[in-house]
Amino acid sequence: MQKIGPGHSMTKTLATLILVGSVLTVPHPAIAAPADSAAIRASALKDDVAMDFTEGLTTEVGPRPAGTPQEARARAWAVKTLKALGFSNIRAEAYTMPVWVRGREEARVTAPFPQPLVLAALGNSGSTPEAGIEGNIAYFPTIADLEAAPETAVTGKIVFVDHEMRATQDGSSYGYFGAARRTGPSIASKKGAIAILVRSIGTDHHRIAHTGVQMWAEGATPIPAAAVSVPDAEQIARIVKRDKPVRIHLTLTSKMLADQPSGNVIAEIPGRDPKAGLVVAACHLDSWDQGTGAIDDASGCAIAAASALQVRKGGQPRRTIRLLLAGAEEVGGDGARAYFNAHGTERHALAIESDFGADRIWRIDFKLPAGHEALQERIATAVAPLGIGASKQEAGGGADIAPLVKAGVPVIDLQQDGTRYFDLHHTPDDTLDKVDPEQLRQNVAAWALVLNEVANAQETLGNN
Ligand code: ZN
Ligand code: ZN
Repeated sequence: MQKIGPGHSMTKTLATLILVGSVLTVPHPAIAAPADSAAIRASALKDDVAMDFTEGLTTEVGPRPAGTPQEARARAWAVKTLKALGFSNIRAEAYTMPVWVRGREEARVTAPFPQPLVLAALGNSGSTPEAGIEGNIAYFPTIADLEAAPETAVTGKIVFVDHEMRATQDGSSYGYFGAARRTGPSIASKKGAIAILVRSIGTDHHRIAHTGVQMWAEGATPIPAAAVSVPDAEQIARIVKRDKPVRIHLTLTSKMLADQPSGNVIAEIPGRDPKAGLVVAACHLDSWDQGTGAIDDASGCAIAAASALQVRKGGQPRRTIRLLLAGAEEVGGDGARAYFNAHGTERHALAIESDFGADRIWRIDFKLPAGHEALQERIATAVAPLGIGASKQEAGGGADIAPLVKAGVPVIDLQQDGTRYFDLHHTPDDTLDKVDPEQLRQNVAAWALVLNEVANAQETLGNN
């Protein structure tokens, strides 16, 4: 059980006063006032729904890559589970997409010191022939070094980019260091490389590789592209330092399938004022193929679902809370685009997303319209006893709500502690045992408090 700080009773009094003031202006006196912050915090900190949801999805479905039959099973599982939890208007909304399918992946140093390497192909990687390919390594310490290199240093070679990322609490290093995975393959291809290996975009030293998507830039021919584990990257760097040509044999087979079925799952806690706009609570249902996608992003969907139910315990909210369990986030956000195409013209009061694991929330960022300082203050006060501080940084949302945010929908970010996130991200180690039940409950409590304030706010909110 989590301790609630000394500000507890003061916060409760303030919240009660604010709620009393709000209720007087509500044109539905028969409807119960929403629960106050202290009651929601106390209830959500005992939540078991989020852990049960995470356990169920990762156990009964397991890995669920976008556009595959496993992702379809995840949709069916989500529809069934959300129904049992008492959500309304539950449906899967289908679309189709191209799907990249992983095949064999093997690599070994053949000279000067023959030995095997551990690697994982990156999404959309080109395929080698069944017999593999062999070539000399062109070593680049950073992605900037690859960018600056002349074609003659790259053509006909297997590029290796050793671009080391360190852990940060806010995960901000992923943006810069992740470029080796996201853009390295296209740069290498355009300079004539026959394949590219990158140091895993990870902060662990386990001998497992971190996969992830990369998109071929306009004019870049697909070449085999993979991440090697961090210990293997350091091994390659040591071999390169011996100043002898380093040769690698690489087998990476894969295929592309056209027009495969994928889809989003939607479920709602209906509000009592349909004109007040929707509060969208988003996550993604798909995962990478090697782990069971516990922290990426079963726990995010669990947090969204469990927190919406916590709000409903206090009575029907003013605004509808809509869960968006997006499909195909990992491979480019097809689900988010499909949702926006289908629902972008509806009034959205707020979008919020959970997709950064299940560790404790430590900061809250806002992007609310001007004149909503009082609402912002109420939310900041409600979450402060959970150890969450309001920042001056503007909220930006994540991939599942990106089209909504771009269209001007207000957004709040509840920032999770990402210190260990990139130890696990997109690896076989993303499994249920990495989810800490107590930290998960703190997430549910923070989310429930934010959803409660926004869904019940008397202020006008929305993009259209
Ligand atoms: Zn994710
Ligand atoms: Zn991911």
